[in-house]
Amino acid sequence: MERKYVYLFSEGNASMRNLLGGKGANLAEMTNLGIPVPTGFTVTTEACNKYYEDGKKISSDVMEQITTSVKELEKLSGKEFGSTTNPLLVSVRSGARVSMPGMMDTILNLGLNDEAVEAMAKLTNNPRFAYDSYRRFIQMFSDVVMGIEKRLFENRIDAMKENKGVEFDTELTAEDLKVLVGEFKKIYKNEKGEEFPQDPKVQLVESITAVFRSWDNPRAIVYRRLNDIPGEWGTAVNVQQMVFGNKGETSGTGVIFSRNPATGEKKIYGEYLMNAQGEDVVAGIRTPQPISQLEEQDPVIYKQLTDIINTLETHYKDMQDMEITIEEGKLYFLQTRNGKRTAQAALKIAVDLVDEKMLSKEEAILKVEPKQLDSLLHPAFDQEELKKAVPAAKGLPASPGAACGKIAFTAEESKERAEKGEQVVLVRLETSPEDIEGMIAAEGILTVRGGMTSHAAVVARGMGTCCVAGCGDLKVDEVKRTLTVGGKTYGENDYISIDGSTGNVYVEKVKTVSPEISGHFATFMGWADEIRKLKVRTNADTPRDTKQAVEFGAEGIGLCRTEHMFFAEDRIMAVREMIVSKNEEERRKALDKILPMQRQDFIEIYEALEGKPATIRFLDPPLHEFVPHSDEDIEALAKEMGLEFADLKATVEGLHEFNPMMGHRGCRLAVSYPEIAEMQTRAVIEAAIEVRNSKGYNVIPEIMIPLVGEIKELKYVKDVVVKTAEEVMKEKGANLEYHVGTMIEIPRAALTADEIAKEAEFFSFGTNDLTQMTFGFSRDDAAKFLGAYYEKKIYEQDPFAKLDQTGVGELVKLATEKGRATRPNIHLGICGEHGGDPSSVEFCHNVGLDYVSCSPFRVPLARLAAAQAQVKNKR
Ligand code: PEP
Ligand code: MG
Repeated sequence: MERKYVYLFSEGNASMRNLLGGKGANLAEMTNLGIPVPTGFTVTTEACNKYYEDGKKISSDVMEQITTSVKELEKLSGKEFGSTTNPLLVSVRSGARVSMPGMMDTILNLGLNDEAVEAMAKLTNNPRFAYDSYRRFIQMFSDVVMGIEKRLFENRIDAMKENKGVEFDTELTAEDLKVLVGEFKKIYKNEKGEEFPQDPKVQLVESITAVFRSWDNPRAIVYRRLNDIPGEWGTAVNVQQMVFGNKGETSGTGVIFSRNPATGEKKIYGEYLMNAQGEDVVAGIRTPQPISQLEEQDPVIYKQLTDIINTLETHYKDMQDMEITIEEGKLYFLQTRNGKRTAQAALKIAVDLVDEKMLSKEEAILKVEPKQLDSLLHPAFDQEELKKAVPAAKGLPASPGAACGKIAFTAEESKERAEKGEQVVLVRLETSPEDIEGMIAAEGILTVRGGMTSHAAVVARGMGTCCVAGCGDLKVDEVKRTLTVGGKTYGENDYISIDGSTGNVYVEKVKTVSPEISGHFATFMGWADEIRKLKVRTNADTPRDTKQAVEFGAEGIGLCRTEHMFFAEDRIMAVREMIVSKNEEERRKALDKILPMQRQDFIEIYEALEGKPATIRFLDPPLHEFVPHSDEDIEALAKEMGLEFADLKATVEGLHEFNPMMGHRGCRLAVSYPEIAEMQTRAVIEAAIEVRNSKGYNVIPEIMIPLVGEIKELKYVKDVVVKTAEEVMKEKGANLEYHVGTMIEIPRAALTADEIAKEAEFFSFGTNDLTQMTFGFSRDDAAKFLGAYYEKKIYEQDPFAKLDQTGVGELVKLATEKGRATRPNIHLGICGEHGGDPSSVEFCHNVGLDYVSCSPFRVPLARLAAAQAQVKNKR
C-alpha cells in the first residue's frame, strides 16, 4: 500500500506525536475527544524528511495526498478554496515533535485572493475585515514564505497612515486597505518578478514548502543543538480551517494555561481579547484582559471553557497551554500542549499532581527537565530589567546563572577589588590555573577564547560561578585594559552583565536576584533518590565545594583534582621549587614542604564529607603549567627563589612541550618522579587516619592514577603507592582500608581494560580526555572549528558536552565489560564533564556504571536524570 503522508485530524491521535508532530497529534486527540476544533489535516514529519531526501521537492505522491485532503476539508467545512460565494480559508502552522522556536510559525487567512476577498466582504457584511485579512495575508505570505522584506510593506502602511492623518492601523478604512492591497501586490511583483499567486492551492503548497524549509534554517539548527533535538525528526505541517476572533464583540481570542506557568498555582491563568486575532494580542495594540473577566462577560462560554480545560488536563495528566478563538459566540480550541513553565512551577505542579492522584511518583519524575533545576541554584537577572537590556554580544553559555559587575581585566585586580567590596566580572582572553583566586572573587567570568571545556568553563561550573566563554565578538586588550564591542570601547569603571544560561553579554548594569528554593524541591528530589539506581558523586577539590555538593545531595567525591590545590598562593612557591629541582634530593626537600599543606587539604575534605567516600586523583597536568613563562615573570621568580635568571629560564624552556595535552602529564609524572606519588600517598593516608581518629569517620581513601594506557605503568605507580601506604600505616601503628584504581581516559586503556583491571580496583571514565583522544582533537581548540561542523551538519552536538555514544560510548561499554570480566565487583564511575549531562547520565545508567560524578551545581540535575533513566529503562 502507498505510504500515508497526510492525516485528517479525525484520523490521528496523541500517540502519533513522532509522525504528526506535537501540535498535529494534539489537534487529532482533541478532535477525538469531541472538543470543538476547527477541522483540518496534518502533513507528516515523514513528508518533511522525504522533501529533503528528494532534493528539497514535494514529490507527486505527497502532492496528490495533499490535494485529496483539501477536497476532504472542503467537504467537511462546506466551503471551497477560491470560491466566489463561500471561500475556504486556512491557517498553516509548523509543528515538530517538541515545540521549537526559530522555525516558521504561522500563516493566517490563506485562500484569500481578489475574488475570495469580495466574497468574504459580502458574507460577513464587513469589507473592512475582509480587506484587512487580505492585506495581512499578502504581507505574511511575502515575508514568511517568500522572504520579501517586511519593511517594504510596513513603509506603505506608515505612508498611508500619514497620508490619512491617523495614528493606528485600526483607523484605516476598507477603502484605504483596498488601496494597500493593490500596493502590496505591486511590491510582490517587483520583488518576485511575478504576480501574487491567486490560486489557493499554489499558496498552500508554497506555504507547506516554506515550513519544511524552515526546519533547516540556522536559528532552528542552533536551537536543536542547545536542546538536544535530532535533525532527523523533521517537522509536520498543520492546515486548519480558519475561525475568526475579529468578527465583532461576540468574537475573541485568547491564550490560557490550566495552571499558573510562573508559580504553578492551581488556577486557570491567561489572557483574552474580544474582537481580535491572535497577532493583535501579541502586537500589544490593545491590552488583553485576564481570563477571569470572561466569567462576568459570558458565563456560559466560561463554563464551557473551564470544563474543557479540566478534561484536557485530566486527559494529558499535565498542565496545558491552550489557544482559543470565540467566533460569534462559539468556542474553538486551536491548540493544546503541555505548557512551558519555570522550574519553580514545574516542581510545584509535579508534586501537586501526585497529591491529586493524577500521577504516580515515577510519572511525576519525568515532568521536570533536569537542566531546568539549574535555574533554582544560581542567581538570575531581574526579569523586568532584563527586558530593557540589549545584548552587545553572544558567547557560549559555559556555566549558568547571571552576573553583573564592573570589568576586571586581570585576576589580581579581580581579587583586590572584590576584597574592597566591589562587584566585578573577570574579563580575559582566556583563563589559566593561576587565575583561580581572581575567578573565585569575581561575580562571573567572561572569556574571548575557549570552548565548553576550556579552563574557564570547567572551573566556573565547578564553583557554580556564571561564565560565558568563547565570546569572539569582543576585542579585549589586556595591556591597555580595554574591551571593545559594537564600535565602542569600555574600561574598568564600566558595568558588564553576563548570562551564563544563554551566553548573552550586556555592557550595562542588569540587576540580579537570588532565586528562592521552595519546599517542593526537597520533596521532589526525595522521590528521585528513592527511584534511582545510579549513585551521584561530585567533582570537588576544596572543602567549600565539597560542602556545597553535599548540600546538593552528593554521595561522595568522584574526582578530587589534587593539582588545583597546588595553585594556591601560599604553596605555589613550594611547588615551583619542586619543579625546578635539579635532582631527587632537592625535589624531596620541596615535597616535604608541600606534604603538610596537602595533608591538611585532605583532612578538611574528609571532614566535609562526614564519612562519604572520596576518589583522590594524583597529579595530572604537565609541570610547565605551574611556572611563569615571560622573561619578566621568570626574573621575578628567580629573585624570589635565589636562582640565576639564565638557569631558571633554561629549566622553564626545558619544560616546553609541543603538545602538552599529550605530553609529560598524568601517571607519566609519577613514573619520572615517583617521589611525587609517594608524597601524595602519604598525605592521603595520614589524613584518613587522622580524621578517623579525631572524628570517628570510617574514611576509605580511593587513590586514582590518571592517564594510564598500559598495565605496566599502572603497576609501577601502584607499587609506589602500596609501599608508601604500608610504611605510613606501620609508622602510625594503624590499619586502614584503601583502594587503588585508575582513570580510563586513553583509548588504549579502554581497549586493554581486562588487563588493567588486574591492578585497578576501580575505573573512573575520564571522558574529557577520552573524547579528545578518540576524536583526535583538542578540547581547548575544538571550539574554533566545531561551529563549521554544526553548520554543515557533520556534528549536531558538542561531543565534550554530550557523550558521543556511538564512538566514545562504545569504548566505555567495552571497558566496562572487559573490566567486569576480570574483576566482577570492580567499582565503575564517570568523572568527565558528561557526568552532569542528562542524556549522558542515561547512557551511564544503561551501561551499568555504579555512579556518575559531576560539578557540585550539577548534582541535583544528575540525581534527577538518574531517576528518569531508571523510570525509562528499568535496571
Ligand atoms: C577527564 O579527562 O575526563 C577528567 C575528568 O580529567 P581532566 O578533565 O582533569 O583531564
Ligand atoms: Mg583527564
